[in-house]
Amino acid sequence: MTSFGLLRCPRDIIFGRGQRAALGRIASSLGGRAFVCTDARMARTPAFEDMMADLGRTGVEVRVYDGTLVDVPLSTVAEAAAEADAFQPDLIIGIGGGSCLDLAKATALIHRHGGDIRDYYGEGKVPSPIAPVIAIPTTAGTGSEVTPVAVLSDPGRLLKVGVSSVYLVPTVAICDPELTLTCPPALTAISGADALTHAIEAFTATVREATPELSQTNVFVGKNSLSDHFAKLAVQLIFRHLRRASEDGSDIEAREGLMLGALAAGMAFGTAGTALAHALQYPLGALTHTSHGEGVAALLPYVMEFNRPVSSPLYAELAAPMGLPPLEDEEAACTAAIDAVVALFASVGIPGSLSAMGLAADEKERVAREALTAARLINNNPRPVEFEGARHVVEAAFSGDRQAARRELQAN
Ligand code: NAD
Repeated sequence: MTSFGLLRCPRDIIFGRGQRAALGRIASSLGGRAFVCTDARMARTPAFEDMMADLGRTGVEVRVYDGTLVDVPLSTVAEAAAEADAFQPDLIIGIGGGSCLDLAKATALIHRHGGDIRDYYGEGKVPSPIAPVIAIPTTAGTGSEVTPVAVLSDPGRLLKVGVSSVYLVPTVAICDPELTLTCPPALTAISGADALTHAIEAFTATVREATPELSQTNVFVGKNSLSDHFAKLAVQLIFRHLRRASEDGSDIEAREGLMLGALAAGMAFGTAGTALAHALQYPLGALTHTSHGEGVAALLPYVMEFNRPVSSPLYAELAAPMGLPPLEDEEAACTAAIDAVVALFASVGIPGSLSAMGLAADEKERVAREALTAARLINNNPRPVEFEGARHVVEAAFSGDRQAARRELQAN
């Protein structure tokens, strides 16, 4: 790999306990009218009330939309965009999990450019900057606070849809780990596993020829020297802190480490992109009605086995950030790294198979087939993926038999 690198990030990323109290000053520097996208849970919390009071003290007029639904159905986007249109804000603030942040991005897009969100599906359809967004995550997490994508659910389509554009990177991210203290263990586990999957898929994403056009024509450019740095940092932090944070939600040091890890993972995949585990999760999530994080995490070890023939040295390289003892033999280090991912996910209650997630046996082929339609993700996978390959991964992940999977996936 050459030293080509690409980072796209918010103007300011502010990280640390209590940093949400900077919101008023930051918002007032961006305008006098703020439209806030959040959900009903967050809107009732004292932390939210304090942030709204802070906005008031700094002279920012606020309209709150608290109707965000998980996975952002299109109806929510239309509703929020109509309310924002009536209010005419200068900036949009997203406060909540990935769903609230993605809604804030979509609302800022429609508010600035009009039309229907469906006009912007895919990559690079947003013509110019959107309204400024301040993203304040409450999970650790999706990394949406720093990424160029908003993920939405369209009832007209089986799979979730994405709007990807460099203009969707928020202007400011405020990451305050205290906001994650209320995440229950399952949410902590699922969102942390999502972040680890981002980091590992970014670290092993395909390497593209570093032409001068690459960064200008592609939102996601594949593995590169700058995303690698963040991917390794994310792996290290998530391995150190995920189990601790899900076992003891009040452990603020673990919350802090995990949130920094999720942020780093967002920085990594925000330019490198993700790959096969994400492509397979779209149909898996749609058919089983399970969360994004749970799906990508249940698939990841099998995708790693599939990619092993081309990515083994990279998985071996991750053994050190995972905290594993050094091993001379590269294959042994690769095996240890995949085993460590499985053990970490099992320790926080991630299902070990797709059958345990409720996928019906007769839907396996459909998952493989539909995944191939996510061309951006499939083309970003380090090992080329055809239907047979995808089917083998789903088959192995369905049964949860990793030894059989290892033999099978490497033979094919
Ligand atoms: P979420 O935003 O969908 O929220 C899940 C639930 O957790 C909600 O009920 C919410 O109220 C609750 N919750 C959030 N924060 C909480 C807290 N601090 N305490 C208690 N409950 C809390 O969950 P998520 O995992 O953060 O986001 C998932 C969404 O993000 C999916 O739609 C996924 O596709 C998307 N996503 C986006 C990106 C991106 O870069 N834009 C990346 C990965 C995933």
